[in-house]
Amino acid sequence: MASHNSLLNDAQSRLTDIFDRLDVEDDVRHQFGQPDRIHQAAIPVRMDDGSLQTFPAWRVQYDQTRGPCKGGVRFHPDVDADEVATLSFWMVIKCAVVDIPFGGAKGGIQVDPKCLSRLELERLSRGYIRAFYDVIGPDRDIPAPDVNTNETIMGWMADEYAEITRRKVPAIITGKPIGLGGSQGRTAGTGRGALHVLEAWAKHTDQRREDMTVAVQGFGNAGYHFARLAREAGYRIVALSDSQGAIYADQGLDPEPIWQHKNEARELKGMVYCESSVCEESGVDQISQEELLALDVDVLVLAALENVITTDNVGDVRAGAILEIANGPVTADADQQLEKQGVTVLPDILANAGGVMVSYLEWVQNRTGDYWREDYINDRLEEQLVSQAQLCFERADKEEVGYRAAAYLQGIERIAATIESCGTQR
Ligand code: GLU
Repeated sequence: MASHNSLLNDAQSRLTDIFDRLDVEDDVRHQFGQPDRIHQAAIPVRMDDGSLQTFPAWRVQYDQTRGPCKGGVRFHPDVDADEVATLSFWMVIKCAVVDIPFGGAKGGIQVDPKCLSRLELERLSRGYIRAFYDVIGPDRDIPAPDVNTNETIMGWMADEYAEITRRKVPAIITGKPIGLGGSQGRTAGTGRGALHVLEAWAKHTDQRREDMTVAVQGFGNAGYHFARLAREAGYRIVALSDSQGAIYADQGLDPEPIWQHKNEARELKGMVYCESSVCEESGVDQISQEELLALDVDVLVLAALENVITTDNVGDVRAGAILEIANGPVTADADQQLEKQGVTVLPDILANAGGVMVSYLEWVQNRTGDYWREDYINDRLEEQLVSQAQLCFERADKEEVGYRAAAYLQGIERIAATIESCGTQR
């Protein structure tokens, strides 16, 4: 499946060096070299106009040695088997880096959800569960939100699963609405976690947040919550972008009204022209998405999709550090170049792990039936993420490698140890 220039090959290209450094056994290298299972389906949907359309969909389960598979479902017109497999690979490593007892999976549907009505979207989401019902389960593989999916969609999916099994199984899916067994703090979990990682790094390197400027590429759920919390913490958010355009304000942007505007207008582009006083008074300028990536800021936050920084534009990056909230926003080649340019990278497999960490807490609550307050959940998230981030930073210093390599070492070491404990005759 993975052709030579595939995303999966690009992602896996980092492994050989990590395996060598850790002196990992051949068996482990073989087992971890490809996904365990790739499931594919065509989901039929009755459209509002009476016609029938089918949407290609995948669930890829990369590895489940450390626990049930875990990972989101992405709705996007460009989704394909290679992308879903790559995202599932990162999920395994991510769960191991922050030491939560899950393997990794990912799902996707090739669709532009903006072109569907709400009822069509619900039928498609339910269809996803019908298609993959036999391979998921609270002890096998637990889906969650990802790009263009949210708690409403998770609610429909959880309900479809309950309808098929004829019983409530809240632990089948995470990121659900609270009323269906969702967890406090899950929606903001990814953005909050990314801020903890940034804070842990700022502390580790003796930097003051009040002095730090931040540009955020990608203003979806994760980018918004990160920007909101970072501003509250004292960082200056000077630029934001979404798939339609980018805005800049040297004195700093307040993400809250911008998010409200975006939810009404569905894009940031109109911010400059919008009539609300917030926009007029704050002197917001429209810039291009490329200009945002090249801003001279302390931290460039990549919170959209894969392959944003490539060998074509890596030379333009002037930020001191990159915080990866998206999965895989920097290609492997560009990553090497960033290291040469002296740009610190806080890698996705650590920086965006807050989402799956709160998913884990949701799953635990669903299984025990004991539901916790938000401050308790936020405290647990902070405690575990900061301690795992510190381990990673210390390892990077000690072994004189970048943070991405250190995170891979931390994750792969745990995965390899578990695979080895399973024995040799499976
Ligand atoms: N989609 C998120 C991620 O890429 C969350 C996955 C989850 O909660 O299972 O990490």
